Amino acid sequence: MAEQGEKRRRLVLIASPLQGHMTPMLQLGSYLHSKGFSITFAHSELNPPDPSNHPDFTFLPLPAKLSDTGGSSGFIQFLQALNDNCKPHLQKHLIQIIDAQKASSQKESIVIIHDNLMFCAGSIAGDLGLPSIIVRSSSAACVPAYRIIPQLHKVGRFPVEDSLLQEMVPGLDPLRYKDIPFIGLTTQQSLKLTTLFTSKTPPVAFLWNTIEFLEQSALTQIRHRYQVPIFTIGPLHKTSPTPSNSFLEEDTSCISWLDKQSPKSVIYASVGSLATMDAKVATEMAWGLTNSNQPFLWVVRPGSVHGCDWIEFLPEDLVSEMKVKGLIVKWAPQKDVLAHSAVGGFWSHCGWNSTLESVCEGIPMLCQPFNNDQFLNARYLSHVWKMGLEIVEERGEIESAIKRLFVSKEGEEMRCRAMEIQEQIKVAVSHGGSSQNSMDDLVKFILSL
Ligand code: UDP
Repeated sequence: MAEQGEKRRRLVLIASPLQGHMTPMLQLGSYLHSKGFSITFAHSELNPPDPSNHPDFTFLPLPAKLSDTGGSSGFIQFLQALNDNCKPHLQKHLIQIIDAQKASSQKESIVIIHDNLMFCAGSIAGDLGLPSIIVRSSSAACVPAYRIIPQLHKVGRFPVEDSLLQEMVPGLDPLRYKDIPFIGLTTQQSLKLTTLFTSKTPPVAFLWNTIEFLEQSALTQIRHRYQVPIFTIGPLHKTSPTPSNSFLEEDTSCISWLDKQSPKSVIYASVGSLATMDAKVATEMAWGLTNSNQPFLWVVRPGSVHGCDWIEFLPEDLVSEMKVKGLIVKWAPQKDVLAHSAVGGFWSHCGWNSTLESVCEGIPMLCQPFNNDQFLNARYLSHVWKMGLEIVEERGEIESAIKRLFVSKEGEEMRCRAMEIQEQIKVAVSHGGSSQNSMDDLVKFILSL
């Protein structure tokens, strides 16, 4: 808590409009507000948060003139346009906040806390002489993986030739070339992305939505590289739970459906808020789920299958059979689903939030990464934490992977491992645990600025 008589801090949080980034930022804001800080929450007008869930925040919508996140191919242009659009508005508002402080008798010093995708905030903070802290909503292991790309490029190994894909990247154990985050992008695109994230004004600290024991080696490298405090405050949905902030409406009927299933019997399948796929890939998923004879809950996000509104690409007789064996919804209350006793496995695209949500509930995973850091997360799940199986897109192999997960010794071992990790996370987020300590240290650090 800010001491009485001590100068108060106004924290200006700048969120990005992606589901997997907005939710942790709101959770962080709630925690910091509970510690006595005033919170201004800046966000683009695309995918705004619901202010009624956070009545104590001052919300600052930034006009962005964007209608979607650009898909994976247009992501760099999207990020650039997002930052270019938001920058003048953010700058204007920050100057107003600074001027209001100067005129006020109740002095508050201002600290900027921004999502790493909102890099414009770092340079504005530098220009205005404000301290800035960067929030990272991806794994720590991404950093060494991103940083190696220019080096690989220099020695002619990026973009990666097909013949190298299965090989280990020297110095990047346990990653193979196929796990590098920017695989599929051109060299120019990859280098552009790495430079976009390098602020010309260094931040005073980083906040990471991760847990110390899970990513110790990557965190050591990051600390060595940045030489500023790195706070590992995750998983934020456990250290600071908040009301749901889904951009899409959650279909809560799936919870009563889960209530009727046997313990640990259901495979939950979802590819998150951004991944898209061809109807052929989605059809293989549908057959794999159906033929596994395991009850399933499948999220098909509207628009996630190219050229389709929802599931009209599936043959009618398959849909009828699926309705008997499982449930298909457009969007689920994922954290509640994963915490439900009927769920025994998660077939995921391995976005970082989904990964954290699954490890927190001790749910082993089937890993089907689509892009970016998902390949890297999948590699950690299968190879390091040993609680995931990498799967392919063909129905027969999907069916056998689901069976391996639910009814084999190997699956049982993965479940035990997932539950061990769950226990370690419970320790990390409880009093005296690494994440709780890091959150306390963060509060002290902000008060020291
Ligand atoms: N999510 C959800 N319902 C769904 C699918 C996903 O609430 O049906 C949430 C999930 O709990 C997670 C977020 O959406 O917090 C997805 O973030 P992640 O980093 O896993 O993937 P992204 O969407 O960024 O690819």
